[in-house]
Amino acid sequence: MRAAVIKQHGPPESIAIEYREIPVPSENQVLVRVRACGLNHLDVWVRRGVPGHRFPLPIVPGSDITGVVERAGAGVTNVTAGARVIVDPGVNCGECERCLAGEENLCVKFGLLGESADGGCQEYFAADARQVHALPDRLTFEQGACIPIACVTAWHMLVEKARIQAGETILIHAAGSGVSIACLQIAKMHGLQIYVTSTSDEKLQRAKTLGAHRFFNTSKESFYESVRNHTGKRGVDVVVDHVGEPTFMDSVKSLRRGGRLVSCGATAGSNVVLDWKHVFFKNLALYGSSYGTRRDFTAVLDAFARGDLFPVLDSTVPLEGLARAHAALESRKAFGKIVVSL
Ligand SMILES: [Zn+2]
Repeated sequence: MRAAVIKQHGPPESIAIEYREIPVPSENQVLVRVRACGLNHLDVWVRRGVPGHRFPLPIVPGSDITGVVERAGAGVTNVTAGARVIVDPGVNCGECERCLAGEENLCVKFGLLGESADGGCQEYFAADARQVHALPDRLTFEQGACIPIACVTAWHMLVEKARIQAGETILIHAAGSGVSIACLQIAKMHGLQIYVTSTSDEKLQRAKTLGAHRFFNTSKESFYESVRNHTGKRGVDVVVDHVGEPTFMDSVKSLRRGGRLVSCGATAGSNVVLDWKHVFFKNLALYGSSYGTRRDFTAVLDAFARGDLFPVLDSTVPLEGLARAHAALESRKAFGKIVVSL
């Protein structure tokens, strides 16, 4: 079978296509013929490397896997051969206090497929049966591969951490990113007033078609000033900021008293400047958030099955186009997800 492999960190061209043996599933695993694998900004970090963090190289990247069960191990009861499936990329021990409490993303052994273990940019994948779920009938493999990382991360941030409520106002940065589009849809599903930022008028226009209410082009205006103007100087209830250095301080200043900021990353740098007085004077809450739980995964899948959430697919590429897809991810031209079709 063909597999995309990162042997050492570097530019997009450092991704190689190799031929490998088809994996043999153990008793509690299923062998999935991978049909699609969605890309995330995480893939760029895995490929480039992160100072102070060791990835298990060589690694097959790709976290968001859909496909068909080719065969199931003897101990597997939840799926059978021929089933259309989607894989929860969250890896955890399943035995510790946190796992037993349903807080799998707090497990000390927590990781993600494609980051701490081989992922789905290969033709076959041996998945633990407990991570495999039925893919809702209404979704194609490519559409399903838009879901896991972006949508589970967004759901955990907004529903579990920020605890969004109908009627609240939310500011979401970087309107074109997969996680921001998921946040936009989840906020709309919960009845919030939605403000979005982007440096691209085209992306803001696309966000409008998804139901956002106000649009701030940060190459032309200060989103902080605009938030103040549109909220009568009050500020918004919730900010989603996964940009980091360029936006963080103004994000904090854009919150109302008692407001909440949630963040799942810092794509433009994590050494943020923070004037702490805003946090205590205004009774703010700042939440870090990383992926989500099995319960979040199920809630997200149910929302897609009902049609409350829907995939926003930018483009598909073949496995041999993965380096090109990484370059596209880094150029930030995409609106929605880039998916490898196998
Ligand atoms: Zn655990």
